[in-house]
Amino acid sequence: MSNVDSKNGFGTRAIHAGQQPDPGTGAIMTPIFQTSTYVQSAPNVNKGYDYARVANPTRTALEGNLASLENASDAVCYASGVSAIDAVMKCMKPGDRVIASNDLYGGSFRLFKQVYQKFGVSFDIIDITDLDALAQALEKPARMIWFESPSNPLLRIIDIERVSSMAHDAGAQVAVDNTFATPFLQRPLDLGVDLVMHSTTKYIGGHSDVVGGAICTNDKQWVEDLRFQVKTSGGVPGPMDCFLLLRGTKTLHVRMERHCRNARAVAQYLVEHPRVDRVYFPGLADHPGHEIAARQMDDFGGMISFTLVGDRMEDALAVLSGTNVFSLAESLGGVESLIDHPASMTHASVPKEERLKAGLKETLIRLSVGIEDEADLIADLDRALAAVNRA
Ligand SMILES: *Cc1c(COP(=O)(O)O)cnc(C)c1O
Repeated sequence: MSNVDSKNGFGTRAIHAGQQPDPGTGAIMTPIFQTSTYVQSAPNVNKGYDYARVANPTRTALEGNLASLENASDAVCYASGVSAIDAVMKCMKPGDRVIASNDLYGGSFRLFKQVYQKFGVSFDIIDITDLDALAQALEKPARMIWFESPSNPLLRIIDIERVSSMAHDAGAQVAVDNTFATPFLQRPLDLGVDLVMHSTTKYIGGHSDVVGGAICTNDKQWVEDLRFQVKTSGGVPGPMDCFLLLRGTKTLHVRMERHCRNARAVAQYLVEHPRVDRVYFPGLADHPGHEIAARQMDDFGGMISFTLVGDRMEDALAVLSGTNVFSLAESLGGVESLIDHPASMTHASVPKEERLKAGLKETLIRLSVGIEDEADLIADLDRALAAVNRA
């Protein structure tokens, strides 16, 4: 269903996979099929589409594209990242146990603990970078392990290949939220996981103008279960959103190279700044996950977190409101740089004691380094950090 095959490089597949010129008109861009239903020539005789909750050609093109980028047989797209996680959790049964890492997107934590726990799915939140703790957790039966690497917001790195083999030996499956790395930097299915989840809202869309999610897999049973969930629960993206995401993936490889380059420069700048205490960035040689990251990722991504010397909230607030190029906002992965305060913004839904237990300080600041000019980003942070000096 595409004019490229899987032997092409990432950039070629990013632009072409899942898509072909419109057979009716030759339009090079996949049309926005803004329709809810499809005419049939006789009952159940149709061109592969009957109702748009089940499938839509713009969505089919996006799913083909994302599957190709993740080296998956299939991708299933959703109206948001959390609705993608929700679809996976709907496939759990009462009594199933999920082991999740303690440094997760706040909304994932909220969905697990406040929605699915009451239906009898249990969630053990542990530090999965600690493989002894994981081995111990796997002594009791578990259905699934859920984690992020790099994680949000502490940029922890989990050894995906090791965790997959430990899980499979114990009869559990593995899902990785690959939102921070994107398939350009990391392909977890190649490292043995069963499911890859994306908030396509972030780097895949890349322009902060769409909300979406996806699950990619090579497991036929999961494809069947997720397709059933799409038809039955219907958390689907609209055709316009799918079009915007397809437009985003065409430049994913180019944007990611620039995100990575800018983030490396910003991280180096922060490390040398006298007001900065710790810098969390997997590209730094002293980051505890650096070696694993260098092995399982092609580069280190565009996300950085840091704390300030003295750990005072007023200093953190001065930096958060002192930047001009970095905008204070939730979300990440767009072309524009963002600055965020996880404890009060993106991770406010994680109870404070869980946050502190996971090492997430109240004054931690998270950056989504965009693709503006490196010198402007550093000058902006320099001004904001100078304000701290005067305070
Ligand atoms: C944003 C995000 C999500 C949730 O995705 P939405 O598209 O906002 O629903 C899940 N995981 C990570 C790592 C995220 O950054």
